[in-house]
Amino acid sequence: MSFVTVNALKNAGPTQDPEVSPEGPRTTAPLPEEVAHRNRELVDKHADELYHADAATILEWAAEHVPGRVAVTLSMENTVLAELAARHLPQADFLFLDTGYHFEETLEVARKVDERYSQTLVTALPILTRAEQDSLYGKNLYRSNPTACCRMRKVEPLAASLSPYAGWITGLRRSDGPTRAQAPALSLDATGRLKISPIITWSLEETNRFITDNNLIDHPLTHQGYPSIGCATCTLPVAEGQDPRAGRWAGNAKTECGLHS
Ligand code: SF4
Repeated sequence: MSFVTVNALKNAGPTQDPEVSPEGPRTTAPLPEEVAHRNRELVDKHADELYHADAATILEWAAEHVPGRVAVTLSMENTVLAELAARHLPQADFLFLDTGYHFEETLEVARKVDERYSQTLVTALPILTRAEQDSLYGKNLYRSNPTACCRMRKVEPLAASLSPYAGWITGLRRSDGPTRAQAPALSLDATGRLKISPIITWSLEETNRFITDNNLIDHPLTHQGYPSIGCATCTLPVAEGQDPRAGRWAGNAKTECGLHS
C-alpha cells in the first residue's frame, strides 16, 4: 500500500466519496506518437475486413501488424483466448484482473493457465484491498455503488496495466447480448491502443465446443448455470435460454463493468 494511501486511511472518516478513487496508478500512459499514428492507420485500413474474420486470421493479423507489445486479457471464465494466443500470437503476455472478489474456482483456473502456457501471466490488482476499500468507502461498495467498485477494481487497474502495450486482445462476442451486438473486431480504445477481439463472431455454443474439442482448462461454474462469470458478489446463475449476461449485476440496471465502454 502506498504512503499516500496509508495516510488517507488514517485520516479518513468512515466513508469517502466513491466518485474519488484512491491515490495510485489509475491511467494508461500515452502512446508514442508514431505508434498512435500507426494504430489509427491500421484501424482505418483493416477494421472492415476483420469485422467477420475468424479467430486465427485476426490473431495472425495482430502478430504481423501491431506495432509493439500485446496483452491478452483473460477473465478465466474460459481459457479459449489463452489457447488461441498460444497458437497464433505466442509473443503476447496474458493479463488477469484480480479484483479480490473472484470465485475461488476462477482463481484456480488462473493458476492452471499459468502452469499450462509459457506466456507471462501478469496479474493486475486494485490499489486497495477489500478491507481498505471497506474502510474508506463503506462496507460492500459493490452493492451501494457497483459502478464505482468496478471503476476502482477493474477499469482503473486495467488502464494502469495497459501502459506497456500497443494493443490488447479481448474475449468480446457479439452474441453476449444486445450491448455487444455490433462490437467491432478491431478498434481503438480511448488511449489509442488497438482493441482486438478474435472470437467476436463466436456463439456460446461454438465457444463450448472449442473448449471440449481442445481439452481446455474448464471453469466448473460454466456447468452450473453461469455462462458469464464475473466477481462472486455480482454474478448469479441464469436459466437456460436467458441472456448469458443476465446474471451479471442482477437486480441492478448495470450491464457492463466499463472495461468495454
Ligand atoms: S463486479 Fe462487483 S465486486 Fe467486482 S468490481 Fe464490479 S462491482 Fe466490484
